[in-house]
Amino acid sequence: MPNRRQFFRTVAGATVGLYMGERAVRAQAPPARLQVSVGGKRVKVVDVHAHWDMPLGDVVKGTPYEKDRATGPGLDDRIPMMDKIGVDLEAISVNDFWWWEIKDQGLARAICNKHNETLAAWSRQHPDRFVGMASIPLQFPDMAADMLDEAVRRGAHGVAIGGHVNGESLSLPKFDVFWAKVQQLGQLAFMHPNGSGNIIQQGALAGRGGLGNIVGNPLETTVFLSRLIFDGTFDKFPNLKVCGAHGGGYLPSYLGRTEVACQRTGQTCIIKKKPSDYMRANILADAMVFSAEGVRHLVAEMGAGQVVFGTDTPFGWPVTVDPITGNSALSNADKEAILGGNLVKLLKLTT
Ligand SMILES: [Zn+2]
Repeated sequence: MPNRRQFFRTVAGATVGLYMGERAVRAQAPPARLQVSVGGKRVKVVDVHAHWDMPLGDVVKGTPYEKDRATGPGLDDRIPMMDKIGVDLEAISVNDFWWWEIKDQGLARAICNKHNETLAAWSRQHPDRFVGMASIPLQFPDMAADMLDEAVRRGAHGVAIGGHVNGESLSLPKFDVFWAKVQQLGQLAFMHPNGSGNIIQQGALAGRGGLGNIVGNPLETTVFLSRLIFDGTFDKFPNLKVCGAHGGGYLPSYLGRTEVACQRTGQTCIIKKKPSDYMRANILADAMVFSAEGVRHLVAEMGAGQVVFGTDTPFGWPVTVDPITGNSALSNADKEAILGGNLVKLLKLTT
């Protein structure tokens, strides 16, 4: 391309290229596209953790959700946000799972259909930049399994889930039909918490600092993953791949206590392996821990094959690729896997 200019800088052993796109010639200031390289090799950066509070329009007309959910943000500003931090492809999910409280099966199905159809259309429009994760109505486990099947056939990559269904753990047998489908389809389940509303007494996280997010979210993720481990979900479905948002909550950071739980006198455990074995086979974490030391520790506890890149876009967290590209504890192969290689496999990406 005649207008392409290349800039290169070296960051602690990893080379990062800056690319000014064709828009550089327009009157507006050009968005720079950060192109990430490791050891001189351009690598694909894939983001597992990208939100969209999708507007639902007529689908929620005349329902209690019309006021808050009919209108919402679009995705038109998303590509410049991705370019700025070097994300090549986002796997978009609709989070919060507010529709899991809906008792009307038709409405729940219509909302998830709208999510899945809109994400599929957006992904078709920008096949090299976006894929959509399936939305499912997990309060109806059979329907959720069917809708996951349908969404994957229509182009979804992975499935987005919350940490509980109206307070119920996803390790309960009633959700086995869903996990069986996730395993059968070989899809990645990306779990995103919502403030530990299922665990924390009302008002307990109401102090300054946004603790529902800062503490509640990783706590909910920790409990969610711990229930899947100790209640035997991964023994029933040994090929499951479940990714916990925000570094997998506190679980990888404090694994020692979890690891010895079954060795304690008086404990009766049913699990077939050590907790750390599930951490290294079934559980993944996004690398959204904001420091090279945090990423190093995730890799030490889980292995580089279990850690993936995530940004929490568009919520303004100061995420960069630097804790990975500039991490002296990681090999170039580890960096490439964490930045995108693992997700290319787990999300079955072809580009
Ligand atoms: Zn998030």
